[in-house]
Amino acid sequence: MKQVHDHLKVSTNSSNTGIIGAGKLSSYKWPGAISVAELINNKTYTIGQINNAKQKLNNYYVKVNSSAKTRCIDGRQDPKLDSTNIGPQVPGGSLGAALAYRLGAHKEDPTKTTFLQDTNYIINKLLSFGLKPGGHRDVFNSTTQSHKVGCGALDNMEHILKTMLDPKLVNNHKCIVQNLLNNDYAGDIYLCNLGMATILNCQSERYFMDKQNALDILEKNNKSSIATLSGSHNEVFVIINYVSDTTFDSNRFSKENNGMQAFGYDIWRTKQVAELIFPGPKHATDKSKYIVARVMFTVATLMALTDGSLELLYRVSK
Ligand SMILES: [Zn+2]
Repeated sequence: MKQVHDHLKVSTNSSNTGIIGAGKLSSYKWPGAISVAELINNKTYTIGQINNAKQKLNNYYVKVNSSAKTRCIDGRQDPKLDSTNIGPQVPGGSLGAALAYRLGAHKEDPTKTTFLQDTNYIINKLLSFGLKPGGHRDVFNSTTQSHKVGCGALDNMEHILKTMLDPKLVNNHKCIVQNLLNNDYAGDIYLCNLGMATILNCQSERYFMDKQNALDILEKNNKSSIATLSGSHNEVFVIINYVSDTTFDSNRFSKENNGMQAFGYDIWRTKQVAELIFPGPKHATDKSKYIVARVMFTVATLMALTDGSLELLYRVSK
């Protein structure tokens, strides 16, 4: 896997942004089910179709609308998504921020809180900055009595945390986090956050016991903050977007490319939110801990949901 700083001064097209391939996410097999290798094997897509779609990816990036709700990195269709009013993508939508805040920056005793309490805390904080939190269900879980909600990042949070700490994967995880963060990476902070993840993992059953109600907190504030995604997972790319105020039009990409999908992570958004929550030099360490934790959660989510065969792409400015 190539590193993002190898590419930051490179662009692949004539505009001021470009998408650069960094190779397969991992040469190790990850435990998740989403697999490009399988999509090719079962003839859902050919390598030619995938390469063809990759050449066009940058055309599917649009300006975010600051009044649009935050989206998950999930590549599936949101039938109600308005392409002219589109919000940024982060794993688990705004709910992922609760775990990142807990791992990186919360000062209270982690053994006495729950994910639901942390969600309540972070959603109120985001709202106080005028941000528009968001999350999602999917059609399978909104029409059944399933205890799951349909967001892989939320439903699998305990598993994601465990995956982050898997002895076979932990070094692989660290290297990818380091590559994605480049100058924002700090080894001591990574280890500190990993320590908090270890404590939380020991408390997992208690800490996550009420996580299924986390969407209620979003809904209580604004009913339309919850999207309902449809279709099955056909993600073939993971795109890390460093270009501020832009995001991936996942619906249009999927519609115009035979249902193909991509996980889109707007890493600029993580940095923007961190800047708001932890302003100024006084909070620099907490800001850094939050950013590293959010990216740690992102990489662990990809490890838990995919087999590592998806191609990693960076979207950068010239
Ligand atoms: Zn999701």
